Formats: sequence, C-alpha cells, structure tokens
Amino acid sequence: MHMTIAMDGPVGAGKSSVADDVAKALGILHLDTGAMYRAFAWYALEKGVSLDDEAALEALTKEAMPEVAYVDGAQRTSIAGQDVTGLIRTPEVSMAASTVSKYLGVRQGMVALQQKLAAQTPMLVDGRDICIRVLPNATVKLFLTASAEERARRRWLEMNQKGAPDTYEQVLEDLKKRDDQDMNRQVDPLRPTEDAIIVDSTEMSFEQVVEHILAIVEEKTA
Ligand code: C5P
Repeated sequence: MHMTIAMDGPVGAGKSSVADDVAKALGILHLDTGAMYRAFAWYALEKGVSLDDEAALEALTKEAMPEVAYVDGAQRTSIAGQDVTGLIRTPEVSMAASTVSKYLGVRQGMVALQQKLAAQTPMLVDGRDICIRVLPNATVKLFLTASAEERARRRWLEMNQKGAPDTYEQVLEDLKKRDDQDMNRQVDPLRPTEDAIIVDSTEMSFEQVVEHILAIVEEKTA
C-alpha cells in the first residue's frame, strides 16, 4: 500500500496551504476534501435546496457529486460539469458547507469518493474526518490546530488582502460558529483521534509548521 497522510483540523488552522507545501515537498498529491463539501453546498445553493432539508440534500447527491481533477498538480473541483474552484471560497459557501456536511447521507458519498481517490495514488488528504473515517489506516495522522483568536487573525488578514470588508470580530464570530457546528455534529464530529499527532501552530510560522510536519513524516516512514 502506498503512503497516505491524513490531516484534520479546525477552520483556519492553515491546513490547506500547509498541506499544499508538504505534499509538494514529498512529491505527492493533496486532496482538499473541504472543497468537495463546498462544491456540493454551492450546488445546493444554486438549486435553491433548503440546507435544513436532509432528504432533499440526500436526493441531490444522486443528481450530482463533486469531481476532482489535477492540473499541473493543483486540484480543480467541479460539480454538474462546472468548474467551481474559484466560486467556493465565499463566507456564504463556507457556512453552507459546514451545514450540509452534518448529514450522514451527504457524508457517506463524499467519504467513498475520497477513499477511491486516495487508493489510486500517494496522497495527503486534509479535512475533518480523515483520520477517523476516510483513511483510518493512514501512514501518518496529523491534527493541525491553533487558538481560535490566532486562526481568526490569519483568516482576517488573508480576507483583507483580497479586499473583503469583514472585521476581525465578524471573522472570529463566524469561525467560532463553524467550529461549534463541526465539533458538535452527530456524525464524525471534528476531534483528534488518539493516534493523531497534534501540531499546535499558534506560536509557529508557516515555514516552521511545514518543516515540523515533514520531520514527522520522515520519522514515521523511516
Ligand atoms: O476545510 P474547509 O473549511 O474548506 O471545509 C468546509 C466545511 O466542510 C467545514 O467547515 C466542514 O464542516 C466540512 N468538512 C467536513 N469534512 C471534511 C472536510 C470538510 O465536514 N472532511
């Protein structure tokens, strides 16, 4: 079996950018599973399906599920034939993704797709349920986190650079709301598994986090 790295963690812990760099350094692909939930949530919003209607959302999974492709090593995420990679990073889609991902009927299909992708090639997979559900036998299991204030500060800086008008307080409030939904849902809530190595990046620079994780991977695969 080839190498798989599972990385879970809350909103704004820097998983996606860290995962990109770690995967690149290791010469493997990075699967951002959050993008899949986001694509599905985007589609539900487009179709006007109520995010509270579990049965309708489950029916929607039969109509369309996200598809993932790689262009020059970078993930492109599509749904119903449309590439939505650039459309799914809005605060509205973020919150909608957190809401649709509560439902077992939505999660099951996603997990199956993710497992199929990771079976094809060495991969680093990031998300919320990767260690416990998607890749319980991963070569390396990581839980990347930071304090809520530091995560909100990073997200706010990133959003401000892109010209978003949100205040730090709004970003912190949204982040806490999403944390609460993700950590307290019934199906596979976000929490570190016993066998995951916890990386708290509150006091670390981006480069330090990447180096630290590469060192963990090296040790685990030696
Ligand atoms: O990681 P990202 O913030 O893009 O994920 C968006 C939302 O999708 C999360 O808030 C979470 O509710 C959901 N998600 C999930 N399981 C995953 C990945 C993401 O429930 N494996």
